[in-house]
Order: sequence, then structure tokens, then C-alpha cells
Amino acid sequence: MKRKIEFDQECDSCGGTGLYVGMAEHDGAAVVCHTCKGKGHYLYTHTYEEFTKLKKRSNIRQVYAINPGIGIGEGVRKETGEEFRLEDFGGMAYEEWLTGEEFPPGSEMRKYTCPAWWYQTADYSKKPDWRDGEPQCVGLGSFTACQNFKAKEKCWLRWDAEYGKILKAERKPKAETPTEKSEPKAGRQLRLEEGAL
Ligand SMILES: [Zn+2]
Repeated sequence: MKRKIEFDQECDSCGGTGLYVGMAEHDGAAVVCHTCKGKGHYLYTHTYEEFTKLKKRSNIRQVYAINPGIGIGEGVRKETGEEFRLEDFGGMAYEEWLTGEEFPPGSEMRKYTCPAWWYQTADYSKKPDWRDGEPQCVGLGSFTACQNFKAKEKCWLRWDAEYGKILKAERKPKAETPTEKSEPKAGRQLRLEEGAL
């Protein structure tokens, strides 16, 4: 449903006086305020679509928390003949996401990114920077240049051991699905506003 907010606002350029006194106006001289044309106020109008519920998009199967800069799709890799599907990039089924389910541990893009790469964008507080122990973050310039990148499943094992518990503790209980009648959940509304997901 279309909604409209409309109110009479005091002009903030001239403080409601309708007059402007600048560097060139002296001794009691003023010019008419350019913003409000001397009226001292203007009508503020904003029209918007009222939020009732999360709308469904057609042709979506899988949803990802973020994209760290990788082309996501389905097909066959020319060089290796390896088949790849949406699920290979992690994420969760769209139907599940619509119910308000949070991304479970393991839904990161583990096959193609290392923990540092993924969490740099997903949640910086969980980005590892391992300088001791095994394995270590020894990339120079890019994550794929790290000597451990080819065996990044070991990095994910270490990440699970060190950050897995924190992630589990932070996960909220399953949110109620917003319907026409219930109040929309703040978290979901935020996601909708972010749009770019
Ligand atoms: Zn004004």
C-alpha cells in the first residue's frame, strides 16, 4: 500500500526567516532565501510502499550470506571437467531462508574460499590471522596466493575449532515468519532494505 508523509518544515537554510545574509550583505542588507524563496518553510513530501511482508522472488533456489567476489552459478569447469552446482558455493535453500532460518555453520563458501577470505567480508571479528600454530595465514597480496590455500579444508577445521562455538552462541532462535498480520521482524526488514544481497 502506497503511503505518503507530508509535513511543513521550517527552512533550515535561513532558520525560517526567509532571508539570507552572507559575506556580501552588510549593514542590515539581506537577500531572499534561495531555498524557500523567502517563505521560511517548505513542504516535505515522501511517498513509499508500506512494508507488510517479505516478497518472494521467482527463480531463486539458493541464498548466500555474502559474496566475497566469486561468480556463483552452475555448470562444468572447462579446465577440469568438474561439475559445479549452487550448493557447492555454500549458502542455504531459498525456501529455508524465507522461514527466517539463520545461515548454519558450514554454509560459508568453503570449497572456494578460506576462512580469512570469507570472514573478511562476512564478519570481520571472525577473520583469522594465524601467525602461529597450524595452518598459518601466510598469504601475500591475495588469499589464493597463500601456501595453504590448496589445502584450505585444514584452515576451516582450525576455524571450526576456534570460532565455531562463538558462531553457534551468536545464532538467534528461529525468527517468526512475518505475515500480513504480524509485525515484521526488524532483522528481516533490515535485510530487505539492504537489497543488494
Ligand atoms: Zn529559507
